[in-house]
Amino acid sequence: MKLENITLSHEHPRIDLSAGKNDSDCLLSMYDDALDELKDIHAKGVTRIVDCSNHGIGADWSKNELIEKETGIKIVRSTGFYKDPFLPEYVPTSTVEDLCNIMRKDISNGAQVIGEIGTSKGVWTENEHKVFEAAAIVQKETNAVVITHTSLGTLIKEQIDFFVSKNINMRKVIISHVALSNDLDAIRYALDKGANVAFDTIGKVKYLPEETRISFIKTLVNEGYTKQLLMSMDITRKSHLKKNGGVGYAYVLDVFIPLLLKNGVKEEDINQIITQNFNDILEA
Ligand SMILES: [Zn+2]
Repeated sequence: MKLENITLSHEHPRIDLSAGKNDSDCLLSMYDDALDELKDIHAKGVTRIVDCSNHGIGADWSKNELIEKETGIKIVRSTGFYKDPFLPEYVPTSTVEDLCNIMRKDISNGAQVIGEIGTSKGVWTENEHKVFEAAAIVQKETNAVVITHTSLGTLIKEQIDFFVSKNINMRKVIISHVALSNDLDAIRYALDKGANVAFDTIGKVKYLPEETRISFIKTLVNEGYTKQLLMSMDITRKSHLKKNGGVGYAYVLDVFIPLLLKNGVKEEDINQIITQNFNDILEA
């Protein structure tokens, strides 16, 4: 199958969680570490990557343009704040309006996404609530895409209920990491409210086997949700890169998509998911 105009909807041109996790493996820079892999996936059809890094987790937006120039891949920029305990130190003492102002400024400077904004594992902290409140206000003002982080796929329903209660255009909402927990009902709940869900941890088999992800995608395609699905890998560690023994960015194209095809997911549905859906969400 010929792949082109692919968007990887959840990656990190630069991410630094090394302090919080006390592990130097968790500092990854595409510019320093992965240009060769990016050139490879560009040759294989990837033309856009969504940068889900933001304030407090080591985003370096000045490098995005250099990455674009070197690799030919366009990078979509984000704003916002990730989750406890990785929030910038000013978040606890900031007002919702303060956080809105930071997001507004980034969006006026070209960010198109508010994300990834997250909830903790099974817990939604006060700081995280403040970030979501600000995101909802700024989404309504700017119509930006919102990409959330769920910790191991928990609180999907709670995030959805929050956005519904704020009357957000659910076509603009992407719930991330849905395939880290084995909860197809929660995924369907999000889809039935009109949100998009991202199978963006492809290759992370220590959480869930790839067979489960494939069967989820196949089931959801058969149930008519194709236009609300996204795929990516969420590579965040040096050890995820191919040269360091990891699966590498090309895995989704070289391994996972052939597995989808082998398991009966149709080419046209795969194409819709990887080439068209993020476009449609941006334009919704
Ligand atoms: Zn995440």
